[in-house]
Amino acid sequence: MEAKVIIHGGFFSESFDSEEVKVAKQDALKEIVTKAHSYLQSHNALETVAYGVSLLEDCSLFNAGLGSQIQSDGKIRLSASLMDGVSKKFSGVINIEDVKNPIFVAQKLMDFEDKVLSGNEAGNFAREHDFHYFDSQTDERKQQYLKKLTESLRKGTVGCVAIDKDGNLAAATSTGGKGFEIPGRVSDSATVAGNYANDFVGVSCTGVGEDIVSGALAAKIATRMIDGFTLKEACDKSMNELKDFDGFAGVICISSNAEIYHTDSHPYMVWAYYDKEPVTFT
Ligand code: ASP
Repeated sequence: MEAKVIIHGGFFSESFDSEEVKVAKQDALKEIVTKAHSYLQSHNALETVAYGVSLLEDCSLFNAGLGSQIQSDGKIRLSASLMDGVSKKFSGVINIEDVKNPIFVAQKLMDFEDKVLSGNEAGNFAREHDFHYFDSQTDERKQQYLKKLTESLRKGTVGCVAIDKDGNLAAATSTGGKGFEIPGRVSDSATVAGNYANDFVGVSCTGVGEDIVSGALAAKIATRMIDGFTLKEACDKSMNELKDFDGFAGVICISSNAEIYHTDSHPYMVWAYYDKEPVTFT
């Protein structure tokens, strides 16, 4: 089986992203998907999605890890999860503070019985397992926060889905949230609505977390695949159901026969896959 990987960097901010930023995001995705593809040659799908998302978290152009947006009380809280399509295990952290790569904390939780931790306790777990203190509040983020006090700003989450040479699927997603939210708000990204993998498909979502949760998006796509839908049918039907409440979302997926699919409710999501060379899309 040909190993494949697909990544996303959420939605462009229509009103704030200049052409320069758009090109920079696409260039970053190309570089990251190339590295993730090369990593996948000697690692399994689960290891690869964690690695792919960690590279996206390290790129300040995206709303995860280093690039995370500031919440309404001036703090950064990170949420990330991953799911192994083989064991069906899901692990994640919700609203963790002061770590560089929340996806690696989520990955660490795979080894524990309790697999999803939130808030300060997630932070305590991270410290106990040698994830050092890291302040992701860059000057750029602070300026954006000040700007946000008077106007609306949207930025995108990150995600990675992979199928390895043995046909194993996995998905990972990481976010800094929607920006300026009420402290304590829970994003979709560390739930099965925003991130899911089974034997049939791996799915990572981005968009308005509340819409993705209301539409049970990733889990619904995976269930439809179990029930015999094609990848396109499963995604299109599930996305279509978001229209009932004017849902804002986008997904990237890989099926068990290594088919890649992307769809979004608004045509400015940024994503990339690797097929002999990196290919990016909006
Ligand atoms: N889904 C994320 C959230 O609502 C944000 C995003 O994907 O842009 O927290």
